[in-house]
Amino acid sequence: MFDLAIAGLGPAGRALASAAAARGLAVLVVAPHPDARWSPTYGIWADELGNLPDAVVRASVGNPELRAHGVHGLRRPYAILDNSALQAALPLAGVEVRAGTLDDTGLAALRREARVVVDARGARPEGRFLDDPAPAQTAYGVVLDADAAAPALSGAEALLMDFRTDWAEDADHPTGRPTFLYAVPLGAGAVLLEETCLAAAPGLPLEELKARLHRRLLRRGVDESALLRPAEREIVRIPMRGRGSRPAPGVLAVGTAGRGGHLVTGYSVAHSLRTAGRLADALAAGRLPRGVRRNALANRPRRTVDRVGPADLLREAGLRALLRLDVAGTLDLFDAFGRLPRADQAAFLSRDASAAPLARAMWGMFVRLPNAGRRELIRATLGA
Ligand SMILES: Cc1cc2nc3c(=O)[nH]c(=O)nc-3n(C[C@H](O)[C@H](O)[C@H](O)COP(=O)(O)OP(=O)(O)OC[C@H]3O[C@@H](n4cnc5c(N)ncnc54)[C@H](O)[C@@H]3O)c2cc1C
Repeated sequence: MFDLAIAGLGPAGRALASAAAARGLAVLVVAPHPDARWSPTYGIWADELGNLPDAVVRASVGNPELRAHGVHGLRRPYAILDNSALQAALPLAGVEVRAGTLDDTGLAALRREARVVVDARGARPEGRFLDDPAPAQTAYGVVLDADAAAPALSGAEALLMDFRTDWAEDADHPTGRPTFLYAVPLGAGAVLLEETCLAAAPGLPLEELKARLHRRLLRRGVDESALLRPAEREIVRIPMRGRGSRPAPGVLAVGTAGRGGHLVTGYSVAHSLRTAGRLADALAAGRLPRGVRRNALANRPRRTVDRVGPADLLREAGLRALLRLDVAGTLDLFDAFGRLPRADQAAFLSRDASAAPLARAMWGMFVRLPNAGRRELIRATLGA
């Protein structure tokens, strides 16, 4: 018997496998391409890196900006991860690795081989399906060299969210779902410029994002020939509620297979890295984490490691608002976010924030809204 079997080797599965093996557990992992390098450009706040070595940072900026009505320096260092180095920093020494693909039945069958079975197969283990109605973050990005990208940055070191409306055909009267520009240096003279729709149901189509990115960048003076021949392209689709269904009986879900993603930002990597050690500690001590165990004893051993708590209800309200806010309401909201104290901004963005600091941050945004913004936020959150 293995102590632990994990399906999936994304950040959530690999972090848990590595942490469990380091604690002496016998671990089995199954993933279609166990040696594959992760391809997404992962960003993380530098204060969320924990004990990871410096080598995992591919590039970093000290003061990423948010732009809506005003310019807001966030004064919080932000890092882009080097995925190969991050994977190397989460070694699988001693782990039995099998190449393979498992459906729910195959996953449940691992219970014959392991004491605890974990689903880390991500949000869509069956692959993406067309017309997925679930709320999704979508983005289309290009990688340009720093000189070509400079006009897009408008003098900022990086733009975490630039909500200015030059994506719209009529920038003064924008209509449709709001999008923002995410512009971050990747190191070695490269910059990622990504048009992002934070949340829409269904996700905003790729062609629309691409058209908006081109319109925005050309207006800012980015050279068209550079735009049409980028060094790389990136396509993002993040189901905001992760898998959105319960794991197979007898299986624990981690990361986006469960509820590890932030309902408002779509980010999950920092949370997966942070919580893997705690879960591995619990497993090494021969116990399942609180709540998971209670459920198992009640003979209902279907669980996500991340349970629903009051903070999740607040984040769910935040997602509901984002899905329905108009462009003006979105700009008002993020402008208010930009004016929050740093600790409140961090609480709003963290998957790990508890209800009290999160509520304070959300209230702080509300009171900073103009009257029209308050009315729009109430409509979007509570309306039919
Ligand atoms: C382009 C892009 C950029 C992103 N940027 C960020 C970011 O900056 N920060 C952030 O926090 N998040 C970001 N995200 C979201 C991020 O992808 C996910 O949050 C993160 O990868 C989820 O990690 P995970 O381990 O839960 O799942 P995944 O990374 O999806 O990993 C799933 C694993 O399961 C394996 N698998 C899938 N199906 C099966 C199966 N049937 N059987 C066995 N194994 C299977 C896969 O091969 C993979 O190894 C981004 C996403 C994209 C697409």
